[in-house]
Amino acid sequence: MTHIVIIGAGECGARTAFALREKGFGGEITLIGAEPLLPYERPPLSKDGLAEASLPKFIAGAERYEDARITVLTGVTAKSIDRAFKAVTLSDGRSLDYDRLLLATGSRPRAFPGVPENAGRIRMLRTHADALAIRAALTPGTRLAVIGGGFIGLELAATARKLGAEVALLEGLPRVLSRGVPAEIAAFVAERHRREGVEIICGAQIAAIVEASDGARLLLADGIGIEADLIVVGIGAVPNTELAEVAGLAIENGIAVDARLCTSDPDIYAAGDCCSFPLPHHGGRRVRLEAWRNAQDQGALAAVNLMGAGETMASVPWFWSDQYEYTLQIAGLADGAQATVRRDMGEGAIILFHLDGEGRLIAASGIGPGNAVARDIRLAEMLIAAGAKPDPLALASPEIRLKKLLAA
Ligand code: FAD
Ligand code: NAP
Repeated sequence: MTHIVIIGAGECGARTAFALREKGFGGEITLIGAEPLLPYERPPLSKDGLAEASLPKFIAGAERYEDARITVLTGVTAKSIDRAFKAVTLSDGRSLDYDRLLLATGSRPRAFPGVPENAGRIRMLRTHADALAIRAALTPGTRLAVIGGGFIGLELAATARKLGAEVALLEGLPRVLSRGVPAEIAAFVAERHRREGVEIICGAQIAAIVEASDGARLLLADGIGIEADLIVVGIGAVPNTELAEVAGLAIENGIAVDARLCTSDPDIYAAGDCCSFPLPHHGGRRVRLEAWRNAQDQGALAAVNLMGAGETMASVPWFWSDQYEYTLQIAGLADGAQATVRRDMGEGAIILFHLDGEGRLIAASGIGPGNAVARDIRLAEMLIAAGAKPDPLALASPEIRLKKLLAA
């Protein structure tokens, strides 16, 4: 095999390229990225990186790509895949032959129906360029309206408060973080935002958004009007599957891959936000994860499998969110849990352990100041990976160390 082409120069694409070299691939590697920058980290775009205007945080400098003999094409979009001839057509007119191909095309913000995307006072947050535009508009006293009480919305609300903006956050559902975060932890997060002065309106149905030269007005179905200088829409992400779809690959809530990250074409793999895969530890049900560590883990797995190893996905889902002085971490997937056990860790930190009908630990959700829950969530992750059925009373008792349960 002489040439591996990676479409998508984000977290997953870049990690795959370096992992290929680390694992001894000696052929040519080309990384194609639509954005004008070398691959960078997205998590800081809504957090400290935005507040401190210290963006972007590059995954690696140009020299490291050169040393690893990785050709990075920035500002270039892959337009089509010819599977019969194993070639990719690029936006600059070139065509690249591949032996194996990785699709790491990520996801993009879901657009709000009927509202212009990323123009004027209405913005979305995915890229460095989006973050710069938002940052420029966030000054003390700016009236920010955030649509969507998910991770983007809440992290941005916390950062905007740090910068002195006034924030109203509108969530369509009865509570924030309804996807993947237990109600008790979501309530904790919402309460922290309210203490900071963020106005959170749940069950909000947006009837109209009107832009004017001196501001924008959001009109809710119940007649409430909200004035804003800046509106940021954070209502979820959609996977970038179009290229794969046109190439005739199987699609199922993302580019469908097997446990080895292989698509319906044996020479094409997909990884990161753009793919759905069968999740071990959760009965092999098909999921799509939009998380930083998943992009890294799948990048490492894609690399060895592009080289022919045939290994299967083994990692437990994990993600985190930073808001104010708190860090939230979740390992595993809590939906499908039949019982939940709470452990109070002191200093306001809690962990909820989620068990299935047979008493198996399937997820753990924690929140606390700084790193308060990090070590125990890590241990919970190992318990989940081991398929452990820990005693619920022991899980609830902070004096019983999780390490002991793991050893058992
Ligand atoms: P992406 O990072 O989206 O990269 C895909 C790249 O492919 C993009 O640069 C895109 O332009 C390019 N591309 C797409 N199609 C083509 C094409 N046809 N040709 C060429 N290039 C193409 N996760 C966490 O777990 N914790 C966090 O705290 C966290 N914070 C986040 C904050 C923000 C603001 C955002 C936006 C995301 C955050 N995430 C977080 C999610 C995490 O960043 C993503 O899960 C991760 O970036 C996914 O990596 P990826 O490589 O699959 O996709
Ligand atoms: P998200 O976490 O899916 O949250 C979107 C929220 O907006 C959901 O609660 C959603 O409810 C709600 N919503 C949908 N339509 C709405 C409407 N019309 N009016 C009001 N609310 C509406 O997605 P996100 O926050 O936009 O984040 C985008 C991407 O960035 C995701 O991939 C996310 O994982 C990633 N990200 C991750 C982190 C992190 O992990 N810490 C941080 C920032 C960004 P429904 O459930 O009904 O759709």
